[in-house]
Amino acid sequence: MRCYGCLKEISSKSQYCPTCKKNIFDNIDIKPLSFDKEEFYTFRAQNTDRMSISGVQDKISLKFSDNNILEPAKANGRYILKPVPRSHDVASKLGDMPANEHISMQISKQIFKLNTAENCLVEFKDGELAYLTKRFDYQKIEGIVKKAEQEDFASILGYTEELQDKNYKYESSYEDIAEGIKKYVSASVPAIEEFYKRIILNYLISNGDAHLKNFSLLRYPNRDDYILSPNYDLLFTSYHLKDEPAITALELFSEYETTAYGAMGYYTLEDFEVFGKMLNIPNKRLVKIFKDIMNIEPEVYELVSHSYLSDEAKEAYIRSYEQRLKKSLLYYIDSYKFKKESILVNGLSL
Ligand SMILES: [Zn+2]
Repeated sequence: MRCYGCLKEISSKSQYCPTCKKNIFDNIDIKPLSFDKEEFYTFRAQNTDRMSISGVQDKISLKFSDNNILEPAKANGRYILKPVPRSHDVASKLGDMPANEHISMQISKQIFKLNTAENCLVEFKDGELAYLTKRFDYQKIEGIVKKAEQEDFASILGYTEELQDKNYKYESSYEDIAEGIKKYVSASVPAIEEFYKRIILNYLISNGDAHLKNFSLLRYPNRDDYILSPNYDLLFTSYHLKDEPAITALELFSEYETTAYGAMGYYTLEDFEVFGKMLNIPNKRLVKIFKDIMNIEPEVYELVSHSYLSDEAKEAYIRSYEQRLKKSLLYYIDSYKFKKESILVNGLSL
């Protein structure tokens, strides 16, 4: 079988390779969960008000019991479990949702090499798969578990339902988040480049839900500085939402609009180039980022083919990624001025 974490081929005796067992479960032998999805929903319903993890999708916290069994936690959970949502809307293909989040997170971690929350699939008692992620706000530092203070960008930029409206999470721009990173993260140069790559990843995997609350800063006890949190909540949302209105959850720019965007109505290389320059990413770094993106394309498809998605979802994932990469991102029109001037385009020899 393939490891429920990294998707590498392993002997069927274990569900996780040694590396994933160590990174995700601190070397504890993990068995299928001792409860099923119905019991999950019962626990979820009984504890809704007490759960500290927010969001729309149903999820509960888990932690290891004294005898190393993963079980629902009312407080201080170290893992977040997300099963197939309960809706019976067949058109939304929700059965693929856990594997979709898992493969999206693995592409972020293994192929884009982004700092990504530890994650895997896990079996319920009856064998049904759910998505599991390890909370990154708890970390062992010099043998002691410390809890970081986590602030998402809705809170950092002051966006609330009261001040804006119920869509407040979508009413800012990635440029505003980048400004926040520059302001609060002391090592902001690598954090900005990491953030930039995350925006490109979200664009390529068609994640229309990378909103303000899906970017956060962390601060550990006795530290003054903030760091960018690992990447989390990644999903090829277009697969489940057929008429998704936006290409990206937030606009790239607060006010600016490129010629290409004006003509095409979606972001292309010109937008990402201008955005990269706006974030002060040097041209040679931008060229490298885009060369890497061209080079890793086959690796993305290989990993998707090894994922736990249904065959239909694998095909849709690859088709959508290819479309975003080759028809949207790398699209340009001969007459556009930026083609001649662009170092990026020259660097890529498109
Ligand atoms: Zn593994």
